[in-house]
Amino acid sequence: MTRAILEVRNVWKRYGKLAAVAGASFTVEEGSIVGLIGPNGAGKTTLLDIISGVTRPDEGRIIFYRDGEGIDLTGRPIPEITRLGVARAFQIPNVFDGLTVLDNMRAALFASHRIYYKATKSYKAYHRIDEEAHRLLRLVGLSGKEDAPAGGLSHGERKLLDIAIALASRPRLLLLDEPTAGLSAVEKNTVVDIVRRLNSEGITILVVEHDLDVVFGVSRKVVAMHEGRVIAEGSPSEVRENPQLRIAYFGE
Ligand code: ATP
Repeated sequence: MTRAILEVRNVWKRYGKLAAVAGASFTVEEGSIVGLIGPNGAGKTTLLDIISGVTRPDEGRIIFYRDGEGIDLTGRPIPEITRLGVARAFQIPNVFDGLTVLDNMRAALFASHRIYYKATKSYKAYHRIDEEAHRLLRLVGLSGKEDAPAGGLSHGERKLLDIAIALASRPRLLLLDEPTAGLSAVEKNTVVDIVRRLNSEGITILVVEHDLDVVFGVSRKVVAMHEGRVIAEGSPSEVRENPQLRIAYFGE
């Protein structure tokens, strides 16, 4: 059996009377792609916020496994979580519009590895940043766009740049929040190919996605949430047929 890289353990987050996340538990297996689905307001983004350190849960724990050792991420600051190996790309791309694509990557790489590069301060270190920037841009299919201002990219390209920025910290677990939202069918296929490529390079992926064809097509396991709770967890075919999911989504 594959071991877990992430364990979400009985997590609660309340806003007044509303429980945005209500005792959610599931695991993400190392090396897999796990899809997190659910109707609007199910608690998916809140859960990604909790895993990535944006929000603290009221109860429960987030455990990240590295080399078999469980590390409690709950309530840790974002930079620490990133350093431990968890990175996130956002629903609305988080890029500097006024900088070129390459400069966005340089900034992300410099921020991620600043201790190392400060220590060396050599021409070689800067050269290595550029090499890595080009490698990551190739990986997400943005080669040739290096000198374009990020503000001039299409919505799809901005999402890809946001993914490349998340990769700058060399994550072992990548959290993707609706990577195909607002994209054309062709752009969606590109994103799906890239998600598969990143996974084949050894990055585990937890992806929140509304497009069920995308999520059932790409995921090894699907976790379905409704009103803050996990209502189904299993292979895409198991979850697709789950009666609770069909009621939550289609009112069947
Ligand atoms: P969507 O698919 O629409 O993005 P979601 O599954 O990501 O939905 P969340 O955004 O996590 O759902 O929201 C879960 C519930 O918690 C919603 O009812 C939302 O209105 C509520 N909520 C989220 N954040 C806050 C907040 N900061 N203050 C109050 N309520 C919040």
